[in-house]
Amino acid sequence: MVAITEADCTGCDLCIPHCPFEALLPLAESPTDRKHKKRPVVVLATQCVGCLSCIGSCPTKALHEILLPPISTTSPLLISNSDPETESIKRWGKKGLGWA
Ligand code: SF4
Ligand code: SF4
Repeated sequence: MVAITEADCTGCDLCIPHCPFEALLPLAESPTDRKHKKRPVVVLATQCVGCLSCIGSCPTKALHEILLPPISTTSPLLISNSDPETESIKRWGKKGLGWA
């Protein structure tokens, strides 16, 4: 699957339409210690199938391939809800993002 280095993510949203599984979405709230103005985009572990369609879409190289999902090293008994709260994205119709 893929991961995003939050410090390198400017929140430009360019990667979002490259994911056919809607696994790339902006965080609902920006972390308080964030240096960039816009909130970051995150990878939803429950949606990402590791197809790598998004690889190469990030201008800052914040998006990169990883061999194992971060939650794979945690016991399933200890995982409550792995995906953070995110904004929804309008993909279709006028001004919709569609797919890249
Ligand atoms: S690897 Fe595929 S499923 Fe995962 S975020 Fe990228 S495009 Fe979406
Ligand atoms: S393309 Fe890169 S910098 Fe832009 S939102 Fe996606 S991960 Fe962040």
